[in-house]
Amino acid sequence: MTAWKLSAPSKYVHSAIREDDDLADELRKAGKEIIKLSSGDPPVYFPTPKYVIDAYVEALRNGKTSYSRSQGVPELVNAIIDRYRNRYGIELEDQDVLVTSGVAEALTFLNSALIDVSDAAVILMPYYTQYPVAIRMFGGKFLLGRYDEENGWDIDLGELARILKGRRRKPKYMLITNPNNPTGTVLSKRALEEVIEIANEHRILLISDEIYDEIVFEGANLVSVGELAKGVPHVILNGASKAFDATGFRIGYAIVPGHDALSEELKHKLADYCRVRLCANTPAQYALAAAMNNRAEHEKAVSEMVRAIKQRVESAMKLLAENPYLTTVRPRGAFYIFPRIDMRSLKLRDDKEFVESLLKEKYVQTTRGSGFGAPNHFRIVSLAPSTIIGESIERVNDFCEEHSKSRQ
Ligand code: PLP
Repeated sequence: MTAWKLSAPSKYVHSAIREDDDLADELRKAGKEIIKLSSGDPPVYFPTPKYVIDAYVEALRNGKTSYSRSQGVPELVNAIIDRYRNRYGIELEDQDVLVTSGVAEALTFLNSALIDVSDAAVILMPYYTQYPVAIRMFGGKFLLGRYDEENGWDIDLGELARILKGRRRKPKYMLITNPNNPTGTVLSKRALEEVIEIANEHRILLISDEIYDEIVFEGANLVSVGELAKGVPHVILNGASKAFDATGFRIGYAIVPGHDALSEELKHKLADYCRVRLCANTPAQYALAAAMNNRAEHEKAVSEMVRAIKQRVESAMKLLAENPYLTTVRPRGAFYIFPRIDMRSLKLRDDKEFVESLLKEKYVQTTRGSGFGAPNHFRIVSLAPSTIIGESIERVNDFCEEHSKSRQ
């Protein structure tokens, strides 16, 4: 007889992105070389710029190794305020900014602060894998809207209106991702305006995860929810991981710009959450502040990275276009490609089998679409150099060809 048992919500805590890591390790031990296209981790292929590393080292040398202000060191909070003024024309005050250990921690704080058992929140599929887990961790459930693949993965506004219509208990929040992981979509201004309208009409807090806001390809135009949602309660999430090429720093932030009663209550409660966990990584906060303040160096580094990512995505898309069993919407930002699989022609059970077999047979590690709420798809991270991406997609194409012929 056991004296204790795990909590009920803990059964939902699982990461689809890392679930094949053990299998990949086993294959490595057996001498296979695995191409890993499953982790959205820019510094693996784009070393964090030297001036950012120098700022981190300098912070250490200057003794910035103690606990720091819980909501973020003033240097970083000011740098974030400047960034939003310069980039988006958004005016923020100190208390609007809450620095966290990555967007991951901000999501945990938000769900803990907002979700009671049986409360609902709206997320849209395909979603970033942490979203449903973070809701369920607090006994909540999610209402599933969708991005529309037929419409370039832009928000399906009709579906959103449908799931909200006539609900007696309104959802606690609605969460969108722009640019999107796993589709690489940059949402249209029109869809954002409509979503804000819906949030306003139903009085639902809107949360916009904009962690890829600087990884946008030429021709696409990213609009922040903060530019449009004036007067409608909203939260913007962002951080060091992607645009500042520093996933391991574990620095993110939540911005709550509103001055309405809900926004005021929320930002003060989030500050309490920050205090309870003491602070985010202190030297990393100084390094991110330096990275944000050195706009010339940052612009240079990020534009080089985005140019290279776009090339890598383009070369993958070219090869994917030769594959008759996959259909792919062209990404406009981030670094993900999310093909739909013609499962029937490949005679595979589902996307899980597709991804596992691809790893076992061709030694290419990707992520199953069902992990993002979108079965019959898989996600490719397109950060590796074009030669590696090219080699991987050739293997994906061979794999599909072989499976279309087998067991006929
Ligand atoms: N939000 C999205 C959409 C992501 O893709 C990721 C990481 O891949 C995160 C949040 C996590 O970000 P962080 O490293 O700041 O915790």
